[in-house]
Amino acid sequence: MTTTVPAIIVDEPKGAFRQGTIETRDLRPDDVRIDIAYAGICHSDIHTVREEWGAAHFPLVTGHEIAGTVAAVGDAVTAYAVGDRVGVGCLVDSCGECELCLDDHENFCTKGSVGTYNAQGYDGEWTTGGYAQQVVVSERFVLRIPEGIELSEAAPLLCAGITTYTPLVRWGAGPGKKVAVVGMGGLGHMGVKIAAALGADVTVLSQSLSKEDDGRAFGAADYRATSDQQTFKDLRGAFDLIVCTVSADLPVDAYLRLLKPFGTFVMVGLPENDQSLNFGSLILGDKVLTGSNIGGIKGTQEMLDFCAEHGIGATVEVISADEVDAAYDKVVGSKVRYRYVIDTSTIAATS
Ligand code: NAP
Ligand code: ZN
Repeated sequence: MTTTVPAIIVDEPKGAFRQGTIETRDLRPDDVRIDIAYAGICHSDIHTVREEWGAAHFPLVTGHEIAGTVAAVGDAVTAYAVGDRVGVGCLVDSCGECELCLDDHENFCTKGSVGTYNAQGYDGEWTTGGYAQQVVVSERFVLRIPEGIELSEAAPLLCAGITTYTPLVRWGAGPGKKVAVVGMGGLGHMGVKIAAALGADVTVLSQSLSKEDDGRAFGAADYRATSDQQTFKDLRGAFDLIVCTVSADLPVDAYLRLLKPFGTFVMVGLPENDQSLNFGSLILGDKVLTGSNIGGIKGTQEMLDFCAEHGIGATVEVISADEVDAAYDKVVGSKVRYRYVIDTSTIAATS
């Protein structure tokens, strides 16, 4: 038995979205059925649909920035009740028993964590994401959205928020630290807000100065254009930490030169192509080059609570179901301000 749910579906790589229906599983004892109010559009959705990271499974319903309310709960659910404000991020299952799961790093589960979409669950079924009116998820992967954050502004926190919060906290963004955020899109604008709330001195490195006023309003003390080579001269050796959210090819050495000795460059953007670097850029200054992948469930709840405490939500443009294709092109063209969020009540179940 399944339950039919209106969704925004794409049938082939790089294809156009259509509105139709999908089947969601009936509740297992530990499941929560969520009425999705809003789903953010992450650049990862676009990389996936366009198969920039390899083959995807179609038909596909993307979306891993999900916010809504609990519609129903399974018999064994204890943490959530009907009507609760909740979210789901990039993960919907993990073994729950391995060292990494027990250490709150479900994203690195040794059995393999299950992604919110384009992933095969342990039952063999393909997962479907947030561009839909409902999703069914084990309560272990449901997050509580604190009062005080609008659901539309909370949705992007479930990926963009946690993906920037994790490296900023791990690498010590805070008072006395100079932090650069490269690329001010969905992840980047959250990185600026969170780094500023942590007390760091934040600089945005963007392709142009066109979003400078917004960057400063989000908490940046400085804002520089990477299209201007002078930026790389002026800021040489300036930063303790650089968090890079760029989704395209990148001159890695030029950014590494912006670090102080012992500084850290964290890549969270995942461009389609391989990038290269000269190891001298690391060796001359004992610099750290690392990556960061979303975060675990405990960290995600901590991030949501931190954002509520600091009055932080995403800055969003709410769109309807028929605007998703155009939104994808605008995201790729860096025209999003700063996250598109789909109002899922606009989905028409036409087929
Ligand atoms: P986004 O909204 O498109 O933001 C990316 C930003 O990168 C753009 O706004 C733009 O900023 C900059 N950019 C784009 N093209 C560029 C180019 N050719 N050269 C230089 N800068 C460029 O995307 P997003 O949703 O924030 O995601 C960013 C990346 O992170 C994607 O690759 C996504 O898949 C990845 N991601 C990773 C994780 C993880 O766990 N590590 C999680 C989620 C997403 P400016 O206009 O300011 O220059
Ligand atoms: Zn994402």
